[in-house]
Order: sequence, then C-alpha cells, then structure tokens
Amino acid sequence: MERHDDVLVRMEGVKQHFTVKKARGRKATLYAVDGVDLTIGRGETLGLVGESGCGKSTLGKTLLRLYPLTDGKIYFDGEEISALKGRELRRYRCKAQMIFQDPSSCLNPRRRVGEILMEPYVIHKLYTPEQRREKALELCDMVGLSPAYLERYPHEMSGGQKQRVGIARALALQPELIVCDEPVSALDVSIQAQVINLLEDVQKKLNLAYLFISHNLSVVEHCCRRIGVMYLGKIVELSPAEELYAHALHPYTQALISAIPTIGGSRGRERMVLTGDLPSPTAPPPGCPFHTRCPYASDRCRTEAPALTQVSDGHWVSCHLCV
Ligand code: SF4
Repeated sequence: MERHDDVLVRMEGVKQHFTVKKARGRKATLYAVDGVDLTIGRGETLGLVGESGCGKSTLGKTLLRLYPLTDGKIYFDGEEISALKGRELRRYRCKAQMIFQDPSSCLNPRRRVGEILMEPYVIHKLYTPEQRREKALELCDMVGLSPAYLERYPHEMSGGQKQRVGIARALALQPELIVCDEPVSALDVSIQAQVINLLEDVQKKLNLAYLFISHNLSVVEHCCRRIGVMYLGKIVELSPAEELYAHALHPYTQALISAIPTIGGSRGRERMVLTGDLPSPTAPPPGCPFHTRCPYASDRCRTEAPALTQVSDGHWVSCHLCV
C-alpha cells in the first residue's frame, strides 16, 4: 500500500458493490469499487483518472460516506470512519466536503448566493445571523467574488462564477479534505485554468487535501502530486505525477497518455488506440480486468489477476508484464 509521511486518509481494501435490476426481474451485483487501497496526505492533491464508469466518482462518494461500505476500512486522521453513524457521521462530513462537476445542479435556483453560503451554518446551528453573513462575505472574498454576489441568484451567474460559489460552500465548514468530482469538466477551457488556480490558492492557504477526479489526464497533469489510474473498480497504476507522464507502465495508462492531444503530435510515443468498450462492472472479466482490451494479453492474463505491486519509489502497477 502507498505510504505518505502525513497521512490524512487511508483506504484499505475498500469495496462498494450495488445490487442492480436486470431484464426479466433478475438481479446482478455491480462491482463499482472492488478492493482499493489508497492514501491521501494532508495538504496533498491526489488525482484519480479513468474512463466514465470505472468507479472513480463512486470511490469519492464512498470516501465521504455517502454510501454504507460493502467491505474494507477508511481512516480519516487516524480515526476509522467506515462504520460511523448519526451525529459522528455528520461531524465527519463537516471535515470532508465535495465539489461537483455541474455547479448548476447543486445550487438551489430559488436561493440567493448569500443564503446558499449561510445554509451550512444554519444546518449545524453555528453563529448568529450577523456572524453568518460575515462568514459568507469572507467566503466570497476567498473565492474572488465581490460582496454584491451575495444578493444574486445562480441563474444570474456564469458557469465559472457558479463553480466559485460551489467551492465557497464546500469551504464553509473548514474542511480538511475536498473531493473534487470533475470540477472543471463543464466549464469553458478558458475558465478551467482560473478555477484550478483558485483551488490551488485555497489549498495553500488552508492546507487542504484534494481527491481530484477527472476523466481527462491533461487536466490533472499540473495540479496533482500523485495520480491513481482506475479501471473497472480497481487501481491499476499509482505514481508520482511526473513519473506517470514520463514512464507510464500499465498498458491502459499508456493508452490514456498517448491519447492526450499535444501541439505538434504525440508525447514521443505512438498513439495507442484502445479497442472495445469498458466491460460491464456487473460482469468483470476473470484474470486481469484489462485483458479484453490489452494488446499484450497472454493466457496468464486471462486467468490470473495481477496484484498492485511497487516497482519503484511511490510507483505501483498491476500488470504481469511490469513486475
Ligand atoms: Fe495487459 Fe496482461 Fe498486463 Fe493485464 S496483466 S495489463 S492483460 S499485459
């Protein structure tokens, strides 16, 4: 398992399975997250990448305990939070917040920004009305919105401004961890860098840890210290960011990196085109989960699942070819 000097979050063997209905009333198990070990350091940004449906958003929500865990353990600041309930769970959720992909869908359209920002204090019965307004003003200032925005409704704001409100609300209860679920995917490219810069500024000021979820490797390249690559509910590669982009080892990571558009062509390697779709997480293939799309798959890969194994300092990979 990955170790970090000042660990805030430790996930051990985390599984998140769901029962889903199939045709003719039959039921199936959806293996959304299937045995993940990860750590996030205090003040660190850990990137989590992979195709849509690989389980990365479910892992983020599992970390926030939005679902009861199927199996495994999660520790936050040394305390096991995987089985918390009631008041203790609510207390944990103050320390761990989420920023969503589409800010429009999570900001109440009938409330002004001021009410949206003060709502966490109302729910947790914190501060007097005057103090709440002061806090809302401080939050606006922290995310670069003028005080006039407190009186605006979400529909009067641009996508980037709404995402700033989403970030401000996530900061209201002074969290130590924020799960950023595709926080810039819905924004214009010109606005994406501004929001990422804002997240980095706030992180430095408050020593926040981020789990930064993205399907886009070029978005996470510059803002994450380490990156985990997820495929069919499992981490298949975990590495310091620079090392991953220079020396990706897992064929799936190599394919994702080779697909990043660059000016003047490739990143010194040939484009690896993945054939076929992500297999259904209700019927993951035996052996290596990637063998149905891997150009190097052997008979061993079809029957024996590779373990996530450390190959150099901080670099872990799950592939028979690499260890
Ligand atoms: Fe490909 Fe085999 Fe490695 Fe899986 S274990 S990624 S199928 S070579």
